[in-house]
Amino acid sequence: MKALTAMAAGLGAGYWFTASQWSQALGPFPFRAPTDEPVIALTFDDGPNEPYTGRLADVLAHHEVHATFFEPGACAERFPDTTRRLVAEGHTVGNHSFHHDIRLLVRRTDLADEIDRTQDVLTPLVGGVPALYRPPWLFRHPGLFTELDARGLTAVGGEFCHPLEVFQPDPQVLVDGILRRARPGLIIVCHDGYNATGAPRDATIEAVDRVIPLLKERGFGFVTVDTLLGVPALQ
Ligand SMILES: [Zn+2]
Repeated sequence: MKALTAMAAGLGAGYWFTASQWSQALGPFPFRAPTDEPVIALTFDDGPNEPYTGRLADVLAHHEVHATFFEPGACAERFPDTTRRLVAEGHTVGNHSFHHDIRLLVRRTDLADEIDRTQDVLTPLVGGVPALYRPPWLFRHPGLFTELDARGLTAVGGEFCHPLEVFQPDPQVLVDGILRRARPGLIIVCHDGYNATGAPRDATIEAVDRVIPLLKERGFGFVTVDTLLGVPALQ
């Protein structure tokens, strides 16, 4: 029993060291910017997913906030006008693999294909070659960083807004999750889609609508991830 406990603890520590959302062991993976400025980067993964991404863009426009969207190529291909709209309205769009399928993120040849296909889809939509990549589930291995380096891509991490977001709980749960994590330089990960297939995202949109004024009351401003990290959004 003791041995099992020790093994579990070892595995836990190993995971924490290499693969947790905060780990830098495998390569540079910013989850926040080293700043004392009260700025936060809102990021949204797994879209475009209509009608939700359009509604989210309406909310962001209403609050005059720019955000960052990490899009699977399959989703951008499905809703190209939404991707164009996001860029036209001042948001940043980055690469989030093509199929959002864990089986295609392990072998280097599959991973390279996932990244390249999405670059090909996004480039004409965003008006340049994207420079930012966020791995699905923030899943990294050493080969990922080699592939990203070869393509001039910067890996972007972040902190999940709430572990239950995928189940779309009461919006207040997500609001509280974001408020709990709020601090200067934070990159917060929310989802306007679900994998590369799409699903309702009402709770996330409502939470964003509620939390932006609360964060503004606390003195926070909002910037895109490239601005926060001081890196280009396009190559
Ligand atoms: Zn994702």
